[in-house]
Amino acid sequence: MKHMTQTFVSLAAFLFASFAIAGTQNHKAHVHGMGKLTIALETEKDGSVALDIPAESFLGFEHPAKTASEKKTMKDAFDKFKNNLNSVVQFDPGLGCAFSDAKIEFERPEPGAAETGHADLNASYSVHCAKELQGSSFHVPLMNLFPRIKQISVQIITQTGQTENKVSHAEETLKF
Ligand SMILES: [Zn+2]
Repeated sequence: MKHMTQTFVSLAAFLFASFAIAGTQNHKAHVHGMGKLTIALETEKDGSVALDIPAESFLGFEHPAKTASEKKTMKDAFDKFKNNLNSVVQFDPGLGCAFSDAKIEFERPEPGAAETGHADLNASYSVHCAKELQGSSFHVPLMNLFPRIKQISVQIITQTGQTENKVSHAEETLKF
């Protein structure tokens, strides 16, 4: 049983690595207002949440922050994300989920993509719940937290498979 869990964690890590590469290659193709969210269940009670959002939809600009005002905008947005993880993905409150390892960073454009001027923000955190996540429902209130985001493509990876969903308002219910 322990071996199976480890195998699954490796698979999830592999999938994340694949997405990371795909994300970099698709850099130029991002559409303002559209974000990508990946939720992977690594065990029955543990998961990861990863976000890939156009910087424009998160900050209002896509260049590295230069002025004091831009640096403040970026710090405020990063703090808002880290302090409101329960409003990024809202898991069933009855599951007793806790969050850790929140990270968010400005992805500087690749040299070949620099002429487009586009940049994404990458963010992630870990989820640990007291009860099993499989079969539970959740919402994605991220669009309320950052209203420039109008649509989110949600990839759900569980031990039984993988689905892709589009969410365009925060109250839509998705299920593991
Ligand atoms: Zn852009």
